[in-house]
Amino acid sequence: MSSATQSVLVVEDEASIASFVSLYLKNAGYEVRTAANGTEALASAQSEQPSLIVLDLMLPDIDGIEICRRIRQKSDVPILMLTARDEDVDKIIGLEVGADDYMTKPFNPRELVARVKSILRRSGPDRNERESATLQHGDLHIDSGRREVKVGDDEIQLAPKEFDLLWELLDHRGLVLTRDQLLERVWGYTFAGDTRTVDVHVRQLRRKLGEASPIVTVWGVGYKVGPARDVVKA
Ligand code: CA
Repeated sequence: MSSATQSVLVVEDEASIASFVSLYLKNAGYEVRTAANGTEALASAQSEQPSLIVLDLMLPDIDGIEICRRIRQKSDVPILMLTARDEDVDKIIGLEVGADDYMTKPFNPRELVARVKSILRRSGPDRNERESATLQHGDLHIDSGRREVKVGDDEIQLAPKEFDLLWELLDHRGLVLTRDQLLERVWGYTFAGDTRTVDVHVRQLRRKLGEASPIVTVWGVGYKVGPARDVVKA
């Protein structure tokens, strides 16, 4: 890994929030740039190639969802969305938009820094460790090097965290993982975070994988992967 300082682009039109988020990130050792609207954000994302982008949903010109979508067409840079409303969450972290994580305002800046760190750690070198591993479960085939998921011959498009969550569960098949454990392993949070994030991702996975979804809810505990069903292809 390069020894260069990692950089964060903070996209936020409210000057007071932009400045305190910047301050906390600088104190944590990151190089920080800010953009006060979507046009600036897109230009900066392109020219500066930040290590991570903190992106506010509500901006004066182009909204955060559209910005995220446009950035995703060209880049896998991790994106942490800031939103004022809970309802946006499914959309934001689904494949449609493709943010890596979100935080709902008002948030604790220390928690924001913790999440930035964990996202960067996760998107860093250890993502390559399992370079060529593949898993097969019933009709489901996952290739972690290609980040590819197939049900039979059909490729399923998953958002980055949906992929990581599915991998983690399959890699521990048969074992029950609690929401906190999944947050820690997939998102890297070392403290009790917002476990709803896990539920939202499981819901998306079930929707996308349909009948092939191997995920079982263990009520009051968490999730696990059950035994593979024999899927007979017509
Ligand atoms: Ca705003």
